[in-house]
Amino acid sequence: MTTTPTKQTTADLDDLACALFRPLNLDDLLAALPGLLAAALGDGLEWRVRIAADDRPFEAPALAEARWQVSLPLRHDGRLLGAIVAGSRKAVAPDWWDEDRAGRAASLIAAAIDHHQRAARPAGRLASQGAHLRSDLAAILSHEMRTPLASIKGYASALLLEDAYWDEETRREFLLAIDAETDHLTQLIEDVLDASIIEAGALRIEPEPILLPHMVRRAIDKLALRTDRHRFVLSFPPDFPAVMADALRIDQVLSNLLDNAVKYSPQGGLIVVSGRVAGDEVVVSVADQGIGIAPEHLNKLFERYFRASTNGRRVAGTGLGLPISDAIIRAHGGRIWAESTVGQGTVFSFTLPLAPRDTETDAEGS
Ligand code: ADP
Repeated sequence: MTTTPTKQTTADLDDLACALFRPLNLDDLLAALPGLLAAALGDGLEWRVRIAADDRPFEAPALAEARWQVSLPLRHDGRLLGAIVAGSRKAVAPDWWDEDRAGRAASLIAAAIDHHQRAARPAGRLASQGAHLRSDLAAILSHEMRTPLASIKGYASALLLEDAYWDEETRREFLLAIDAETDHLTQLIEDVLDASIIEAGALRIEPEPILLPHMVRRAIDKLALRTDRHRFVLSFPPDFPAVMADALRIDQVLSNLLDNAVKYSPQGGLIVVSGRVAGDEVVVSVADQGIGIAPEHLNKLFERYFRASTNGRRVAGTGLGLPISDAIIRAHGGRIWAESTVGQGTVFSFTLPLAPRDTETDAEGS
């Protein structure tokens, strides 16, 4: 049905702009467009919108029964994203038709389309990055996220049960489990993000003087709360020097090595963190008495997603912690490696230069 076109009196297009950026995705936006255009420009016209697929040429939409029609190209940043056609069964434009205002509305719509297309892009880009990355990520997400999510859901649902009464101690136990699983999920997401930052060559190091023995002590104190099977020993000479390094990133490396030392020593045992000065660098080692690593796996540890077998025992992890640690240490101009004997334990060591060196990141000029 076509009504007599009436002029839209709103002076500016702010309402249109707000409405355009609000939809969750492009499909929602396209569905809402005719209504938004009528509200912003004037009532009583017919509207057709066509969006070009992947910037390819497209056929402009047409209104078969219109006697008057006008086409508004949707351009943004020099790209033709599509076109809008407005039409009327009357032979002339409605008297309120304002070509300039319609053009400004079209620019806004093009910017919104570009915005929604960009928002949808990361998933698309991931999808095109080769089957192996896709399946690795899918495997991590399905495997590693499902377990913590299931227990968060389970504990939360239990707490919400209307008919159940939980005493204070049980409630606290459930909440602690939710808290721990949420930390686990956060770590997982951070690992995946860090891996992509590193892959994009965007890892930045902000050096400041750091006292490694203090940092190790703090990391141990935090971890010791989660295990009563392991004992921790800290062994640094009293005159161990401060080094210039990125505190957050080195803390991340230490936490990862300590976490692994606990994770891969299911029977417990001693975990020794030691430090020494060797020439113009410091060497920090984390030694455990855990399951150890087979010689043929030692040189694969720093490859993304690599996980050595754990004799059928399920150990949560992504295979991203060590490659991330490796990238962080190398960005500082240091090295990281492992020595191990199956069934006896593993020692991970890394070096940091005493004086800052040209790092790989600097060398790339990024
Ligand atoms: P994740 O622990 O999440 O699997 P990492 O990159 O931190 O990922 O470690 C990669 C693999 O190296 C682990 O899956 C495990 O097989 C092995 N690994 C790491 N640290 C130890 C350790 N201290 N003892 C035995 N194996 C280890």
